Amino acid sequence: MIFSQKALGIQESFLNKWDSDIKYRIGKGEDVLQFNLGQPDFACPAFVQEAIAAVNGRERNNFYNHTGGTDAVREALAEEARELLGAEYAREETILTNGAKEALFLAFAALLNAGDEAIVVAPFWPTYLEQIRFLGAVPVIVEAGEDFGLEAAAIRKAVGPRTRLIVINNPNNPTGATYGREALAEIARLAAEKDLAVISDEVYNATVFDGKEHVSLAGFPGMKERAVIIDGFSKALSMTGYRLGYALAAQETIANMIKIKSDLNGNTNSFFQMVLEEVLLRRHAEFVQFLAFTREEYALRRDLLSAGLAEMGIEHHRPAGSFYVLARIPQKLGMGSREFAAYLLDRAGVAVAPGIFFGENYDDRFRFSFGSARADLSAGLERLRAVL
Ligand code: PLP
Repeated sequence: MIFSQKALGIQESFLNKWDSDIKYRIGKGEDVLQFNLGQPDFACPAFVQEAIAAVNGRERNNFYNHTGGTDAVREALAEEARELLGAEYAREETILTNGAKEALFLAFAALLNAGDEAIVVAPFWPTYLEQIRFLGAVPVIVEAGEDFGLEAAAIRKAVGPRTRLIVINNPNNPTGATYGREALAEIARLAAEKDLAVISDEVYNATVFDGKEHVSLAGFPGMKERAVIIDGFSKALSMTGYRLGYALAAQETIANMIKIKSDLNGNTNSFFQMVLEEVLLRRHAEFVQFLAFTREEYALRRDLLSAGLAEMGIEHHRPAGSFYVLARIPQKLGMGSREFAAYLLDRAGVAVAPGIFFGENYDDRFRFSFGSARADLSAGLERLRAVL
């Protein structure tokens, strides 16, 4: 069989493939503690389960509906943006998608022509690169600055005649960095000056620590027109498998994304749109409460993990948001990140993500997720201590 250049030109998500390999071993009976994936360990909250029960058996929950989301869902998303991001969006400036992953793909597909360049800040979540490449566009990697912050001067230097957009991820996977007002203002200024779009992936916006609040790019001058804000419910409500994400952008951008989605997969799951309506409209207080509870719990997990790694002399950047730690592989082992991850899996039954997944300059690191419960984190650290 001859396969398309497009299919041959991309990789299966490193993170998904690595996770499938690990799950296969667990299925065979191996004792593995998983810290390799961005999977919150919380059960789906009770109020979401109640909404699911309420929608079950409701009329027309099995029917097709609007490609971009029902009017009620889109209005609720606009309201959500007002509360969470402090930005004004109208219903027509929202789209509900199959996870944030689809929102990202639709945004890239709406904005990039083959040969266009898209600037991606490293270390990065690897899906950005493959989606951009799949469209025949070219990712241009710019390294993050000090403490994994945004380095506007370096981004500016990378802008060329084919540059169409910049991708940022705040709070960041895999570094846990968050971006402040000054850095975001510079990105907004640069985008306006060079006539660029910005894809701002903010799926971890509910998880910011130390009393700080998330700063969304949405609120900066000109960003209503130029930015596509990506968000979703996978991480916030611990429902990664239900595949509910969304984007906020100018109406014209959203209209183009809807056009593509209409021919790709049509509407996002009707049943779960009804569930989302229940959750966002009628159970909103519980939603907000759950976010506050998980934020506190993640902060405790971060402290536990960070202290445990420090105790072993493992250098790492203390996350200000999201639920990942990017740590340095102990030099004495002399291992690259794939070798180190395989070693930990084989010898300690501990699964982490190799740093190389997040950029070629990060082969001396590994990413440890603290989506897992504190007891699992403690056990994982204990296993790590034993093999190191
Ligand atoms: N963006 C980032 C930075 C992520 O880490 C993830 C998932 O790990 C996603 C987007 C995808 O989220 P979803 O499950 O909504 O597709």
